[in-house]
Amino acid sequence: MAKQYSKMEIIRELREHHIMPTHQRMEIFKVLFAKPQHLSADQVLEKVNKHDAHVSKATVYNTLGVFSRRGLVREVIVDPTKIFYDPTTIPHHHIYNMDTGTLTDLDVAELDMGTLPAPPAGTRIEGIDVIVRVRSTTLSQSDTNNHGQAAVVAE
Ligand SMILES: [Zn+2]
Repeated sequence: MAKQYSKMEIIRELREHHIMPTHQRMEIFKVLFAKPQHLSADQVLEKVNKHDAHVSKATVYNTLGVFSRRGLVREVIVDPTKIFYDPTTIPHHHIYNMDTGTLTDLDVAELDMGTLPAPPAGTRIEGIDVIVRVRSTTLSQSDTNNHGQAAVVAE
């Protein structure tokens, strides 16, 4: 979703997701949707206050919570201390670089999921999120426990 949103378009997007378009929410929207990217709450806080600090940390955290609950952005939980907000909400997977702490998109077609287990009786598979964790092969291998580990979360 690399697109410059006009003020009217932002208001429309927020309303379509049943979010009241306050000034601060619109500022946070602009930061998140500036380009396809994965930002942490602290990065959003920093960017939104780049020009003049007027949005509190609590507002940023609350707004990101509202945005993800309403399906405007996707929450990507790498671990409980590393949560990214993703403006790309179509199904896709991620590659997480454990050395640099960066998350990049992985197209669904690039990953062969093979055979999935049948979902428990009375349920259906709603989505599959894969995070492929990578580490540089040239850096020290002091912690190789999570090397190449893929976490699969079906919700
Ligand atoms: Zn993504």
